[in-house]
Amino acid sequence: MAEVLKGNVVANKIKEKMTEDIEQLGKLGKIPTLGIVRLGQNPGDISYEKSIIKNCDKLGIETKVFEKDENINTEELIELIEELNHDNNISGILVFRPLPKHIDEEIITNTISPLKDVDCMHPLNLEKIFEGDLSGFAPCTPKAAMEVLKYYDIPLEGKNVVVVNRSMVVGKPLAMMLLEENATVTICHSRTQNLNEITNNADVVVVALGRAKFFDESYFNEKSVIIDVGVSLDEDGKLSGDVDYDKLLPLVDKITPVPGGVGSVTTSILLSQVVLACKNM
Ligand code: NAP
Repeated sequence: MAEVLKGNVVANKIKEKMTEDIEQLGKLGKIPTLGIVRLGQNPGDISYEKSIIKNCDKLGIETKVFEKDENINTEELIELIEELNHDNNISGILVFRPLPKHIDEEIITNTISPLKDVDCMHPLNLEKIFEGDLSGFAPCTPKAAMEVLKYYDIPLEGKNVVVVNRSMVVGKPLAMMLLEENATVTICHSRTQNLNEITNNADVVVVALGRAKFFDESYFNEKSVIIDVGVSLDEDGKLSGDVDYDKLLPLVDKITPVPGGVGSVTTSILLSQVVLACKNM
């Protein structure tokens, strides 16, 4: 039976460190504060916002929600973000994505101050990741996957790690972070041929396709370590990862569950970056 790599213990460790940092900041009269910019009433955004606020409340991080009509234009949104950039009471800014189609996402991304860019959208912060400087903000999901690997002492140096995803929010930054750990990284995508041969030859496979139960036993073997980043609904409407978890649990070495794996670490990463932004103010 595979070892189940649960995310909650990883998140708790990050939260413990954050609690100490928040206490120290309090002694200096600083309170980490997250400004959330939400356009419209998308149920997914609202539920994510509620979970962030709940987590922030528990830790002593303040939140301020800036809800705007989804018909706001690019100029008005720029104005709001510039106000938040200059507001000394806001440590970090989170803008829910995707933005409505009429908003120029690139301009918005460039408007957020790199010093408050806790979701790592700004090109300057992404560039740092690609240069191998991991001291600043990082995209939360790939950083969460790295924290899971680190917590469970999964060796990466010299190991073959396959990442099935080439997006800027997951696959590309994750590949850079893995390279910094001296892994030999292969990035796969929808045009990759013989995917199951490649994944079978890997020591660690990170999957982030967004297709429930796509990966069956033909992709893995008894030595496989699987980090499942995918989140989607299966045919019964249940939250599922990319991997057929029940089928693979008895067959592989280590596996993250969905829900309860990488996803449960992501919010803690975001909040730790709000604390980092506050420290740097
Ligand atoms: P995305 O931009 O749609 O990326 C999906 C990737 O999968 C693309 O690189 C795509 O290749 C590749 N792909 C699709 N079909 C494939 C196939 N048959 N074989 C091999 N590769 C294939 O999505 P994303 O925003 O990166 O998110 C990916 C997943 O991660 C989603 O399930 C999302 O919900 C989840 N996610 C989870 C978290 C979390 O905190 N756990 C956070 C963010 C996202 P091409 O590039 O060739 O199209």
